[in-house]
Amino acid sequence: MTTFEEVFGTAPDGAWRAPGRVNLIGEHTDYNDGLVLPIALPNRIVVTASARDDGIVAVSSNGQNGVIEFALDSLEPGSVGDWATYPAGMAWVLREAGYEIGGANLLVDSDLPTGAGLSSSAALLCATGVALLGLRDLEVDPAEVARLAQKAENQYVGAPVGLMDQMASMCCTAGHALYFDIRAMATEQIPFDPEADGLTLLVIDVKAPHRHVDGEYAARRKSCERAAAELGVPALRSITMDGLDEALAKLSDDVDRRRVRHVVTEIDRVEQAVALMRAGRLRDVGALFTASHVSMRDDFEITVPELDVAVDTALAAGAVGARMTGGGFGGCIIALVETAKADQTFAAIERAFGEHGFRAPTSLAATPSPGASKLD
Ligand code: ADP
Ligand code: MG
Repeated sequence: MTTFEEVFGTAPDGAWRAPGRVNLIGEHTDYNDGLVLPIALPNRIVVTASARDDGIVAVSSNGQNGVIEFALDSLEPGSVGDWATYPAGMAWVLREAGYEIGGANLLVDSDLPTGAGLSSSAALLCATGVALLGLRDLEVDPAEVARLAQKAENQYVGAPVGLMDQMASMCCTAGHALYFDIRAMATEQIPFDPEADGLTLLVIDVKAPHRHVDGEYAARRKSCERAAAELGVPALRSITMDGLDEALAKLSDDVDRRRVRHVVTEIDRVEQAVALMRAGRLRDVGALFTASHVSMRDDFEITVPELDVAVDTALAAGAVGARMTGGGFGGCIIALVETAKADQTFAAIERAFGEHGFRAPTSLAATPSPGASKLD
């Protein structure tokens, strides 16, 4: 690893970190005004930084070679390419919002896999944001930084993402999941401490090659919007479990009907999971994870064989619950397992992947970790 001094020829002023995340439950509910329940991971991006007085931002990543420079004054969407679109986008939104950030040298260090659905993109945006603000001693509400990071990803990077990832990276706290109600724009910290119950939350990257993710994501959104319009509601969040059968009977398209059933039952599962976690019944949350996976596999159709094999194998090895997490078509599964069985569960998945001729999976233990902060 190269040091800050070696790259920029000067000492850093400080370092700021922002974590990746996994969503415990509530998939494809964000754009339906629904509920999500992410935790922040111990894996994170650290941006080490020094201030510059020439209005230039220079960025370097240990993952990528070289230094990319851009002038703050000439930033506009499209003006900076490659991975530097993320830090450039964050600098752009901060200035658009009126924050008087200045030039900076930024060195990115990460132990988050990229493109695995653990939200390295949001972590990079948020870490850059807190570093650029921190260098100028600007104090900004974490949820506001999250909203700006989403704006950067939507308008500068050009990815139509929701607000969950950025909120998780900014607002999570250790030992808690972040219960985020998108319609109400309200958050609540829900105690989540698997270790205290003798449990481990395994995150397994199934290393599946991405298959038409963007097009499929857009098609799911379209289905949900079409169904909401047909039902005369602003978003599928308006349909409750009580009204589900009636709503399904009104829909003309069978595929849309299954998409709606996933979204409505998934939002209900988030509420049930939160109630169980509040009651200290973490083991019972496992069944909801598994039901969520079945719904994503059969009704929302966003899983791939690697995800299904990983979930089925985890359950066969004794996991109390398992599901794919993230947008689908690849990425990761989470499995809630007895800590004593964590190693053998992962070994069983490795074996099953070998037998299926899949790429070797990797795992990490997801301790619920704090959101972005300055490092001491
Ligand atoms: P995910 O958010 O699931 O990891 P994305 O495709 O949304 O996947 O974001 C990954 C992109 O974020 C990478 O292609 C790269 O442009 C950028 N990125 C993430 N981590 C780093 C890093 N450590 N250094 C440079 N760029 C990074
Ligand atoms: Mg991302």
